[in-house]
Amino acid sequence: MERDLTAARDQAAETLGEEAADILTVQLLLAGDDALLGAALDRVATGVPAGRAWRDAVADVVASYQQVDDAYQRARAEDVADVGRRVVAALTGVSPRRSVAGPGIVVADALGPADAAALDRELVRGVLTATGAPTGHAAILARTLGIPAVVGAGESVLRLDEEQPVLLDGDTGAVYVQPPRALREEYDRRHAAAQQRRSAALRVAGEPAVTTDGVHVAVAANVGSVADAAAAAGQGADGVGLLRTEFLFLDRDEPPTEDEQAETYAAIAAEFAGAPVTVRTLDVGADKPAPYLAQPREENPFLGVRGLRLGLRHADVLGTQLRAVVRAAAAHRMQVMFPMVTTLDELQRAVDLLDRARADVGVDVQLPVGVMVEVPAVALLADAFAARVDFLSVGTNDLTQYVLAADRGNADLAELADACQPAVLRLVRQAAQAAAGHGRQLAVCGELAADPAVAGLLLGLGVTELSVTPVAVPEVKQAVRATSYAEAQQLAERALAATSAADVRALLA
Ligand code: PEP
Ligand code: MG
Repeated sequence: MERDLTAARDQAAETLGEEAADILTVQLLLAGDDALLGAALDRVATGVPAGRAWRDAVADVVASYQQVDDAYQRARAEDVADVGRRVVAALTGVSPRRSVAGPGIVVADALGPADAAALDRELVRGVLTATGAPTGHAAILARTLGIPAVVGAGESVLRLDEEQPVLLDGDTGAVYVQPPRALREEYDRRHAAAQQRRSAALRVAGEPAVTTDGVHVAVAANVGSVADAAAAAGQGADGVGLLRTEFLFLDRDEPPTEDEQAETYAAIAAEFAGAPVTVRTLDVGADKPAPYLAQPREENPFLGVRGLRLGLRHADVLGTQLRAVVRAAAAHRMQVMFPMVTTLDELQRAVDLLDRARADVGVDVQLPVGVMVEVPAVALLADAFAARVDFLSVGTNDLTQYVLAADRGNADLAELADACQPAVLRLVRQAAQAAAGHGRQLAVCGELAADPAVAGLLLGLGVTELSVTPVAVPEVKQAVRATSYAEAQQLAERALAATSAADVRALLA
């Protein structure tokens, strides 16, 4: 037994890191005997996945502690439950959940994507983190839920008193502790004005977004669940430009089955009357790990085996996903999009898997195929990619981090990692020209697209679709309606000639 445990600890250290291994060590001490680990291993031996076996064993031990008379022993129930959660967290790469007791602002060192996805939008009025950056996945998810978030505010926020009033400005990133009354009133007024603008935009959100000179622009939504899709449909989204399917795969100990995925994709598509749903295949790795797609620890995970690179190494998991999409496409308008593509060879291997999935399912469906433009190599070779796919979609979050060599989650680099850097815009333009040359659509689904102030610039660069967080759909549509395509093209020329992000931002203002 002890040898097993030591081996498990060593394996955890190798694949999950020392921190996770240390948690296991603590757990081993706490468990003391077979009641916990032995029970979990027995379940594993009967074929129960490790995570579920562990959770069930923890639940049994917690229940037995809760039943004893001795108060000290009863208190150990919470210890066991807590360490149990920490082990699951270490195994799944997702930080442990704490529930929120009442309305307020969640203050944390960092928030993992799965934590952010689980925020209770009724109670959580804002999110304030010490680390992280605006295009990190946690911030993106908080925005998807319509929760104001200020990330990367520095360690001092962790010293805030629980009862201290805090005012957050999710637009500017400003944080005010003990805000004076005048400031609170000022923010109340701004909030009311923003609400009014939003309501006006929402009233016409179901209408198409057409520029003043008659160019129609699809404004689709980025979603990660059926609930997001329902919200997006309510905000007038023209379909889904980015379904982040990885959120169906994270925070669990086995991948969703083909049936489960096919049902989910169909349920998402059912929210939209005939507008396409773009299913991005599994984009795990880096800050979105999935425990059952375990991989060796990497020095540079963002430059490592993530996105399609990981998918191709787990062709069974990707194949299952593609069959599910093909099945959903039998009844709905779907598209497939591959993430983190770098080479034409990778694309070809992914397309081969898709062809096999089509053959396995045995239905002949319309299923346009696209690639994300988020590795600079794809933007530079956009011409060759455009010749082989039906559409391209620029992921400005990753494209920016790779063009500028600036980690998208690093608060210290948030200013540098601005998608309005002319170097990024030139690649967007290059991709747009390549797409147009082959008669393909070019979308932008990175966070940049959700800023109404940038809509004109993107259209001017040749972008034909914007895909944005659901709450942003109505106002981005309004921004398109206020834009003249001819003027947008002139604006784009000026932005391409600029030499700094600040100069581009000045043009937008
Ligand atoms: C992007 O990189 O811009 C993108 C849309 O993908 P994600 O944010 O999920 O990495
Ligand atoms: Mg990306």
